[in-house]
This record gives sequence, structure tokens and C-alpha cells, in this order.
Amino acid sequence: NKFEQLGLKESLNRAIIDLGFENPTEVQEKAIPMLLEQDTDLVALAQTGTGKTAAFGFPLIHKIDADNRNTQALILSPTRELCLQITNEIKNYSKYEKGINVVAIYGGASITEQAREIKRGAQIIVATPGRMQDMINRGLVNITQIDYCVLDEADEMLNMGFYEDIVSILSDTPEEKSTWLFSATMPAEVARIAKKFMENPIEITV
Ligand code: AMP
Repeated sequence: NKFEQLGLKESLNRAIIDLGFENPTEVQEKAIPMLLEQDTDLVALAQTGTGKTAAFGFPLIHKIDADNRNTQALILSPTRELCLQITNEIKNYSKYEKGINVVAIYGGASITEQAREIKRGAQIIVATPGRMQDMINRGLVNITQIDYCVLDEADEMLNMGFYEDIVSILSDTPEEKSTWLFSATMPAEVARIAKKFMENPIEITV
């Protein structure tokens, strides 16, 4: 199994075998060793279906400190469906990790219930920008200590009009965090977000 050569921890390699993944996809091969090795910003041009969820999900799980109950990673994604899909994948990837909680935050569902889940502990939050901003405004979530922020399908999020929410959410996070941006295309608005919030990002295209 070629995944073993990427440097992921044993518990992740076991989960990968269970998933039936035999070879890393191109974006995984390019992103994973680099993200494990350094705390860098990343801009990845990659379509859906290229395996990008695992390209950021595996390094995130590898790097999260399960003993620390604070929220350490925020993944922003455009839709409720995508949000739930990413949450499910991350849960599968982290099946052998002890004490890593992943919580999905999205509109059209009970904010009280989502707040309750956050309170129980969420090292990783997967959120749509609108509901995330709402929960920040209400003081229901704290992302001031995160180490990692993933912007998934950044072009889609901006197409949907989430520019202001994204800027506001990112302004609430520590400057020293690493930001990993995934997008199928690089329109001006995506480039503007990258310029505003990222420092010398490594760029990969698949
Ligand atoms: P994504 O681009 O993240 O939406 O992934 C597309 C699909 O490919 C998902 O169903 C993944 O479970 C699957 N997948 C991701 N990485 C691999 C891999 N290395 N080998 C086989 N399937 C994969």
C-alpha cells in the first residue's frame, strides 16, 4: 500500500486500508507529505472527485492534538450536503483515533442542537459560512485558537455570495494558523482571499 510511504501515522494507515484506498491520488501525493512536513499555507487547484477531501483530511487528523479539547481546525464548505459528506469522510478517516470529535455546522437545522454538539467538544468543525458566522455572532463557537483552516471549493463559496462571511470568519482566527485553500478555478475573488489571508502559499495543480 503506497499510502504507507506518505508518512501518515499508523492509525491512519489502518483506516486507509479499511477504506480500500490502495494508491494516493495525484493531489494526495502532492499535498500530504508537504502538509505533514511543514506548517505552510497551500493553494490547490483541484476539482471534486480528485480525492481532495482526503488530501486535507489525512494531514488534519495526523496533526490534531486529541488531548486538547479546543477547536483546532475549521473546514468551510459551500453547502449543507458537502458539509455532511466531508464530516462523514473525516469520521471514517479518524475511526482509530481516540478523542477526536468532528462536528458539522450548517443552516436549515437546529442551531441549539449544533451548539450542544460544539459544547461537548469539537476539535474539527466542518461548516457552511452563513451558519458559522451566525454561531460566532451568538458566541456559540470559539475559533480563536485554531491551527488549521481549510477553504474547500472556495470558488463555489464565493459564487454563492459568501465573501463577506468568509472574510469575517477568517478575521476571527489566529494569524499564525495554516490555511489550505482548495478550488476548481481561480477567479479574482478567490485570489483576493488568498492574498488577504495567506502567506507565501505553496501552489499545486492537478
Ligand atoms: P473527493 O474528491 O474528495 O470528493 O473524493 C472522491 C471520491 O474518491 C470519494 O468517494 C473518496 O472516498 C474516493 N477516494 C479518495 N481518495 C482515494 C484513493 N486514494 N483511492 C481510492 N478512492 C479514493
